[in-house]
Amino acid sequence: MESAQGARGVALSLWGLLLCNVLQDLVSAAPAQASPEMPFSVGQFWHITDLHLDPSYHVTINRTQVCASSKGVNASSPGMFGDFMCDSPYKLILSALKYMKDSGQQASFMIWTGDSPPHVPAKEISTKVVIDIIGNMTSTIRSFFPDLQVFPALGNHDYWPQDQLPASVSEVYSAVADFWKPWLTDEAVSTLRKGGFYTQIVQPSITSPPLRIISLNTVLYYSPNDATRNITDPANQLEWLENILDLAQQNKEKVYVIGHVPVGYLPFVRNTTALREYYNERLIEIFRRHSSVIAGQFFGHTHRDSIMILLDKKGKAVNSLFVAPAVTPVKSVWQVDSNNPGVRLYQYDALSYSVLDLWQFYLNLTEANLKNESDWKLEYIMTKAYGIEDLKPESLHEMVIQLSVPHSKLFPKYYNNYFVSYDGNMFCEDHCRVNQLCAIQYLDLTSYTDCIGKEDKSQYE
Ligand SMILES: [Zn+2]
Ligand SMILES: [Zn+2]
Repeated sequence: MESAQGARGVALSLWGLLLCNVLQDLVSAAPAQASPEMPFSVGQFWHITDLHLDPSYHVTINRTQVCASSKGVNASSPGMFGDFMCDSPYKLILSALKYMKDSGQQASFMIWTGDSPPHVPAKEISTKVVIDIIGNMTSTIRSFFPDLQVFPALGNHDYWPQDQLPASVSEVYSAVADFWKPWLTDEAVSTLRKGGFYTQIVQPSITSPPLRIISLNTVLYYSPNDATRNITDPANQLEWLENILDLAQQNKEKVYVIGHVPVGYLPFVRNTTALREYYNERLIEIFRRHSSVIAGQFFGHTHRDSIMILLDKKGKAVNSLFVAPAVTPVKSVWQVDSNNPGVRLYQYDALSYSVLDLWQFYLNLTEANLKNESDWKLEYIMTKAYGIEDLKPESLHEMVIQLSVPHSKLFPKYYNNYFVSYDGNMFCEDHCRVNQLCAIQYLDLTSYTDCIGKEDKSQYE
């Protein structure tokens, strides 16, 4: 208890210090390349995820003391904008938001898919620290984008103890409902308060039809969440989801599903879903049944950049799913690779809400620290990088077919983007490649298991 209080004291006083100092000495970032003259019928929105602020971050000679999130391990090469062994310094988060703002890109809204607190042992933080950090991230985002509507989703770290988001009211749900009130309707705030999820209509412009955002609390289905173990439908979210999708169908609305923990199989490990298998199967079944109203799905949590396509029972691509990389560069001591910090901008068809393109921006952390300057840049434009027309399910399916060609030059590119250009010399062959390719295309148990079996067989023939 003593040490928890002590750590919290340190974290919070450092937080006060950061708030005072950082805004004034922010290094200005170069604005993003302006997009070519956009047709009237194209809209844009931002996606940020996994900010993981570490308020204790400070550059010091003793490398075990740079950040609480390195958990006593040496920071690797700490600098002004962070370290690959640490969660985000406040300065890194500010540099990302400043870059987005200065880019001059016109966005209709922003999605923010969770995980604000740092990766630290439970005893070093508390419900109060978690709530304070989410509150601070909320006001930081609002200070950069006072007029932009932001649609948040809760992450597994947005709770204390982490992952244990409950199926009923809680202090955290209530706090975020208050924080996010300026962005949400009363009805959305009310379901958020009860179960950490909500839906809301957004009208990006007077001429565009309404778009429905469904922000799911997928952490209720997250494997380490003991609070929902053995509950068939935690917080009745699945039933609610089906009802909302039915309603959207009746009202001829299009839907964007947003959430923190993605559905499907993890691309870096075999036979593993992040959600409990039972919930994953149910969600996939619901998404298949309602795929005609869902125009896109957007997640975070893995900290890596990946895509998935949802195939119907006949193998036709019916949904495009995107997992955006994290702002935090942190990795665990046993991981070889990490990701550079990233933020992204999507372009959509303002009539159908089909996803047309995405622009992935990133900060080369090593370079930024060397230069003491946050030089955020465009990493890639998805249609150009993979030679596809847009990001509709059929086009992503085409892209995946190209990625799957043996010795395809596109696959190494995809794998480099997966780590947000962390290290250009990474290889992913045999098992690694099979895991990635099966996870992209097969989101349910039967089809995924088939894919792994077939791919493995063909590799050894
Ligand atoms: Zn995270
Ligand atoms: Zn997470």
